[in-house]
Amino acid sequence: GMRAEIIAVGTELLLGQIANTNAQYLSQKLAEIGIGVYFHTVVGDNAERLASVIRQAAARSELIVFTGGLGPTQDDLTKETVAEHLGVGLTIDQTAMARIEAFFRQRGITMTENNRKQALVLAGSHVFPNDHGMAPGMAAQRDGRTFVLLPGPPSELYPMVEKYVMPYLIGLKPEQQVFHSRVLRFYGIGESALEERLIDLIEQQDNPTIAPYAKEFEVTLRITARAANVDDAERLIQPVEREIRERLGEYIYATGETSLHEVLVDELNRRGATIACAESCTGGTVASLITSVPGSSAVMRGGVVCYTNEAKRQMLNVPEEVLAEAGAISEQTARLLAENIRATLGADVGISVTGVAGPDPAEGKPVGLVYVGVAVEGLPTLVKELRLAGRRQAIVGRAAKFALFYALQ
Ligand code: ATP
Ligand code: MG
Repeated sequence: GMRAEIIAVGTELLLGQIANTNAQYLSQKLAEIGIGVYFHTVVGDNAERLASVIRQAAARSELIVFTGGLGPTQDDLTKETVAEHLGVGLTIDQTAMARIEAFFRQRGITMTENNRKQALVLAGSHVFPNDHGMAPGMAAQRDGRTFVLLPGPPSELYPMVEKYVMPYLIGLKPEQQVFHSRVLRFYGIGESALEERLIDLIEQQDNPTIAPYAKEFEVTLRITARAANVDDAERLIQPVEREIRERLGEYIYATGETSLHEVLVDELNRRGATIACAESCTGGTVASLITSVPGSSAVMRGGVVCYTNEAKRQMLNVPEEVLAEAGAISEQTARLLAENIRATLGADVGISVTGVAGPDPAEGKPVGLVYVGVAVEGLPTLVKELRLAGRRQAIVGRAAKFALFYALQ
């Protein structure tokens, strides 16, 4: 396959002011289309050091992807340095120039000379329009090597890559191939348990490939097939997906690019139902996840963070005796919190979370013990006892995801 590397340009990366998330993102995108990334390099805004990094990259890689340093200021020098390496000039890209002029005209500000610099591209290069900013990206080829220059701001980079760069890179690959994948999203099963149940499939994988990974306290599995076209790739994916569903179907809550909170909001929307939450140990994480979804205002009534016993009593009427006898971290408290928040806010579904996030035990109960309550009008209230592993942040994250998951049931 094609050997690729990524060069991130920017002194703020070296100073540790920002993390090199662009390299991570670009590596993922290249992996998706079967391009192997062999090196990540970070270099400051310095022409000499950048030139030496370019020479090293050109000696070992066929595809060199740059991010950063396409902007208008003095320290942005990626184009200039690559141009020098290739021995080509820079020319104005008229489309980009028109966009930049329009931008300044609309805002009624005079354009400074250095902004023209943003419309400069390597002579003879393939230009990627920047739909979310001013400096376009570009690809230049020489001696069987491709140099791809992309902007630094993720808000400009991601859409440019999705819309223009990926099709260009797929076109670069010698055989006409597509990479097509299906993402299965799991809940209620850990990454290692999932891998164990699929180990024979994972070991014999070739085409399609099967890759499990954990992210944001959820487990995801990507099945990727390579074929001449999408239909052929689908034919390779389907039997593998069927086999996985046969083994683990009960844990799959969705396919594709989504998340538990999006699925929950969609589902509530479909049912025309509303939700409210009472949170103790998750401190508002459940409410925050739900309200992060556009359209959640149609389904989310509200929520409270009832952290102390007094808050549980005053805001949600959990009786003194329950708190004294069973405790705040108990099946009974979780039940009352879910039922009372539902009733108080007049929602169709009430969810509650109460537990020990750690690092120390509470009420003589161990770290990781969490109760999730789900109250639905006209149905018996469901309370789940969880024993979660991990540190404080992981326990909170998992408890919140479990609450969303049970609210879906
Ligand atoms: P601009 O026109 O904004 O100057 P640029 O293409 O010149 O864009 P840089 O000046 O290198 O890009 O970076 C601009 C901003 O983009 C940085 O301040 C940072 O917020 C973000 N950024 C740059 N490089 C990266 C990276 N490798 N990973 C994540 N974010 C990055
Ligand atoms: Mg810049």
